[in-house]
Amino acid sequence: MNGEGIKDPTADQAVANVMRKTSGLLFPKAGAKKKRRIRHPPSILQEKDGRCFLCMLLDDNNIYWPDLERHHVFGGPNRTASEEEGLTVYLCPRHHRTGPTGVHNSRKTDLIVKGYAEAAWEQNHTPEEFREKFGRNYL
Ligand SMILES: [Zn+2]
Ligand SMILES: [Zn+2]
Repeated sequence: MNGEGIKDPTADQAVANVMRKTSGLLFPKAGAKKKRRIRHPPSILQEKDGRCFLCMLLDDNNIYWPDLERHHVFGGPNRTASEEEGLTVYLCPRHHRTGPTGVHNSRKTDLIVKGYAEAAWEQNHTPEEFREKFGRNYL
């Protein structure tokens, strides 16, 4: 990668951090460097405050749930992109998996959520960029 072998304070800091985490070992564990780093930003679609995205959007219901489930709006091969772009929602079990209008049971619900997510993402990107990243447009 760029800059390998060049001494810079940031790299020294990174080494110091690893040393701290490995509690005194001289070298990080084998394989520790190979892990691909992916970003895990918060959802750009809703606050994480205990409410279900679809209870609010479809039912106008602001109920708070103790057992919300996290859903990646774009799954399959786009799951990592969903994660990295904050395109995730919190859903009650009914709206996630168990109910007839749940996002995994209803194509209609799925498309509503995907369209909402694309619109939110395109506040800062173009539809072309969306298509490149997620394969197609939903708006
Ligand atoms: Zn719900
Ligand atoms: Zn899901």
